[in-house]
Amino acid sequence: MWNRRRLFQRIITIRSSSIVEKCQQLSSQPNRIISFDQLELRSTFDKQQRIIPNVTYLNRIDHHHYDSNLNLYCCGPTVYDHSHLGHAITYIRCDLIIKMLQEFCNVNIHFAMNITDIDDKIIKKSQETNVDYRQLSNEYYQSFLQDMHSLRITKPDYLGKVLDNIPTISDYIHRIYDKGFAYINSETGDLNFDYENFLRKYSIKNIPNFGSNQITEKSFGKRSPKDFALWKSSTTAKLSNEPYWLLKLPNGTEIKGRPGWHVECSAISESIFGKKIDLHFGGQDLMFPHHHCESCCSHVYQYKPSIDENSQKLYSNVNVWLHSGHLILRSEKMSKSLGNVILIKDFLQKYSANILRLLCIRTHYRSEIDFDEKLLLEMSAFDEKLLELQRQIEWAIYKLSTTTSFDNNDLSMMNVTIDTSTIDSSEQQQQQLSLDEWINQIEQSIWSGLLDDMDLNRSLVKIICLANQFSGILSSSIYPDQPQSKQKFLFNLIRLRKLLQRWFMATSLDYYDSFDQSSSSTTTTISTDQLAIVEYLTEFRQNIRQSTLLMMKNLKKFQQQQSEQQQQPEQQQQQLEQQKFEMNKILEQCDQTRTFLEKHGFKLKDQRSSP
Ligand SMILES: [Zn+2]
Repeated sequence: MWNRRRLFQRIITIRSSSIVEKCQQLSSQPNRIISFDQLELRSTFDKQQRIIPNVTYLNRIDHHHYDSNLNLYCCGPTVYDHSHLGHAITYIRCDLIIKMLQEFCNVNIHFAMNITDIDDKIIKKSQETNVDYRQLSNEYYQSFLQDMHSLRITKPDYLGKVLDNIPTISDYIHRIYDKGFAYINSETGDLNFDYENFLRKYSIKNIPNFGSNQITEKSFGKRSPKDFALWKSSTTAKLSNEPYWLLKLPNGTEIKGRPGWHVECSAISESIFGKKIDLHFGGQDLMFPHHHCESCCSHVYQYKPSIDENSQKLYSNVNVWLHSGHLILRSEKMSKSLGNVILIKDFLQKYSANILRLLCIRTHYRSEIDFDEKLLLEMSAFDEKLLELQRQIEWAIYKLSTTTSFDNNDLSMMNVTIDTSTIDSSEQQQQQLSLDEWINQIEQSIWSGLLDDMDLNRSLVKIICLANQFSGILSSSIYPDQPQSKQKFLFNLIRLRKLLQRWFMATSLDYYDSFDQSSSSTTTTISTDQLAIVEYLTEFRQNIRQSTLLMMKNLKKFQQQQSEQQQQPEQQQQQLEQQKFEMNKILEQCDQTRTFLEKHGFKLKDQRSSP
């Protein structure tokens, strides 16, 4: 059920300058000629926009089956603490891509993620707190799941915990060792990846310049500073009593230890998807060294030097690498290590998940987000606009399906007031669009943005522009003397509602009461009985109030005239005062009715009495 309180609550119109600015920008840009008929995504490492085969925009509502399948792998968290907003942004962006493709491109996404539940930080914290590492990591794993649920992020089809995948990872490492690209570090006891040997044997040439980013681990015993651990030995570890597993190498050597981070993702993704990953998502900070090293492992595992077609091209085990831009707080990337984190659970005490989701729709997934209060206010304004738009659509559909047209009372009930002074000239131009033209434009903005490297902001801006114009469209579209205009308009309203329902489904923007566990979030209609009762009561109250105010006014006028002419007998004066008293009581009753309705979610806007 809709949360009636939120649904009907009259929204204080937030005149967000940025919304208007964006509308202006959008209107001032000449319409791009859209030539996309296939999904194109830009892969991070080579910056090439790549076509994803068999994925096209689906302009159909009644689809029941998927035309194609894609697999998507996303690097999961290391569960040693609660998740923060940096995590939230990455996983929401990944979720948006998945849901948009599923809803609008008819693609079934097979989604997998790893969970790092054993690592240095977990062991260290376990020893500091004297809590078993399994219990500790499980506690933060559950917290992660809860956060993802609160943010309405779909749970991956496969969540691979490292602790559940030790044999898989060990087998994977064997193969790299067998091929001659791993060696035991005599200083640390780790099994290291032999990086220089790898570059040489495979003739790898497409290594991007990672700038000052270098592997900073101490290079004790490494053949090259860029070598990384496939298996971390626990025998010479500084951490005492750390858990270990045995890696048995073919030559009989056994190494007590645990998997290195980079090889985890290679092994887990391969065990689920096989050799080819269609889409690989992760935070921008994972590009180097994590995804670089992960790709080195996959490369050795899959290809033979100089024989396989892709053997010289690193990163080719993944069709498209997608990296989410950082969340910046006070000029620094939000991260646990920098200590500038806002936990998801703390943020959600104050703001709804919609705000974060809107932030991710508004900004391109690759871009950084400079997080501040102003941005949150802008997203809150968008949130209110979208809620109000849905409320108005619902009300308009209800009205048109029960009466022939809108009248002034209806428009005031819907909080439809047309204040043209706040609509800038470019918006005025757009105001000329009919509702079906608006729907076509929204449809096109979803389609063109989605296929062009997932620019979801295009459709958001369009929908916000419509929300700004919707009152005007309503008042100018229905004329009581033209019944055919009503039918056409009602048809378009329903078309709009369906399109927006799909968009809200794909963006997981939720306008139901998420705190009401008993409510089902699948129903989007409001009981017509409820609407009829509220409407009747509201009109009744409005009429009584208007009449009383008019009588009060006349009475005051009369009293004034009498007093000017000094011909008001005391008895008449008393009667008039008594009448005034009675009228005030009626007005009080009207106020109480308004308060009552407000308490039940129906906020009314009283019109000023006419002069
Ligand atoms: Zn990974």
